[in-house]
Amino acid sequence: MLFLDELAEFDRDVLDALRQPLEDGTVEIVRAHGHVRYPARLQLVAAMNPCRCGWYGSTAPVCRCPPTEPARYVRRVSGPLLDRIDLRVSLPRVTPEELLEGGPGEASAVVAARIADARAVAVARSGTPNARLTGAALLDACRLGVGAQRTMTDLATSVGMTARGIHRALRVARTIADLEGRDVVEVTDILAAVRLREDGTRLMAAA
Ligand SMILES: [Zn+2]
Repeated sequence: MLFLDELAEFDRDVLDALRQPLEDGTVEIVRAHGHVRYPARLQLVAAMNPCRCGWYGSTAPVCRCPPTEPARYVRRVSGPLLDRIDLRVSLPRVTPEELLEGGPGEASAVVAARIADARAVAVARSGTPNARLTGAALLDACRLGVGAQRTMTDLATSVGMTARGIHRALRVARTIADLEGRDVVEVTDILAAVRLREDGTRLMAAA
């Protein structure tokens, strides 16, 4: 597990070096006398502000950055790296009332047990977790009906998803269905997966 806070503050070369391990779980080191490939499977969790001052999109306080700054800031994270991040979610600021009055939420142990159950279902079905499904095995696992397949096709076209993005969204949809205890990936699972993938990107695109 790799946690990177303030993602946009890292050098672009450092960020783009994450592309290979995020894609195929390896890292290749090239030197004058040859190259070597090491296993480097990782789960990336990252956070960033929408601009350098942190208030872009907020009504109070307001962003004090120069007009071109938010767009320049979010572009520090390249499109190819974003394409390899499955869930991209924008989080609105928590109000003081929500902070002080909110309940404790669901216990982590309860969530962890639900995730473990869904993972066990995935491994029993395909012999591997959903995150490692590729090609025909991914399509077999999803068991898409006509409606779900059409929804995926329409969304991919309207949003402009890459082949990699479509496969990643399908893995997320398969996982959502597993968490809900469904054998077949349905339209709602596709919609949820694409929303989780594109939500944060819309805010970035608006910058
Ligand atoms: Zn700002």
